[in-house]
Amino acid sequence: ATPTALMVGSGIGAERGILIRSGEAIQTFKDIQVMVLDKTGTITRGQPKLTEVVTAKGVTEQELLHWAAAVENASEHPIARAIVEGAVERNVSSAEVTDFRSTGARGVSGWVDGAFVLIGNRRLLDEENVGALKDFDSELDKLEGLGRTAVLVAVDGSACGIVAVADTIKQESLSAIRGMHELGLHVVMITGDNERAARAVANEVGIDEVQAGVLPAGKVDAVRKLQEKYGNYVAMVGDGINDAPALKQANVGIAIGAGADVAIEAADVTLVRGELTGVVDAMHLSRATFGKIL
Ligand code: ADP
Ligand code: MG
Repeated sequence: ATPTALMVGSGIGAERGILIRSGEAIQTFKDIQVMVLDKTGTITRGQPKLTEVVTAKGVTEQELLHWAAAVENASEHPIARAIVEGAVERNVSSAEVTDFRSTGARGVSGWVDGAFVLIGNRRLLDEENVGALKDFDSELDKLEGLGRTAVLVAVDGSACGIVAVADTIKQESLSAIRGMHELGLHVVMITGDNERAARAVANEVGIDEVQAGVLPAGKVDAVRKLQEKYGNYVAMVGDGINDAPALKQANVGIAIGAGADVAIEAADVTLVRGELTGVVDAMHLSRATFGKIL
């Protein structure tokens, strides 16, 4: 393509809130066959609200939220924000956390009021040998069946309760995915969230393939596997720190403008307004600029 075509292409893109870092990215875009989408923050708003609190015998809702919010206050994950806001709304007293740790994007831990608090999904707590996990299995099942993202809270090595949050789908996700299908793309959803919450979202927006319970490193592998199967025509859209390596691996990496800085730095394209429809626009733009017949 001529430099002029590139300039025109990226100029129109900027007008529509699509920032394209390299000419190569606009060019690659026209040949993309597979679109990988992260769930939380990409298809959904990523602003979940606290919906349910389940506690062990002898533990009050106020106590559980006191421990959980203190730790999550140090995390930037959307789940963390929902828990902290929910605790504030319920007038839960706050506390300081010390030795805060983020455990490989599957949960968080820290010391609160002299107790060790660990929060995360069941697999993480199981690996950390947390006790009394089975007590919460049926409640966990019920909540996940409702499409909730439920995390377990353990205090000093024993499960003390569940905090559940629910996210909502972005208004434009459905039409964006429809637009991707019209372009002939295979649309894959990848998420670290549980299978059922993932399926609930996927069914609503018309996703072709779902990969749930995926760790950050697993997202890179998933993109690589798709590249082995479909060739170097795989794009990915994500917003989180955990998406950054996969955005780099993808043939076109696309970040949500409101997402984490690392994700934006790793990406070739940024959707400034965070609208997934921008991907469809960018693809049309690329095909128009480089004369690929639609
Ligand atoms: P997604 O891939 O959909 O953006 P993530 O990979 O960011 O989701 O999160 C995956 C899972 O890890 C969450 O559903 C949750 O169970 C757990 N998790 C991650 N961060 C936290 C946190 N700060 N507090 C509790 N749980 C967390
Ligand atoms: Mg995300």
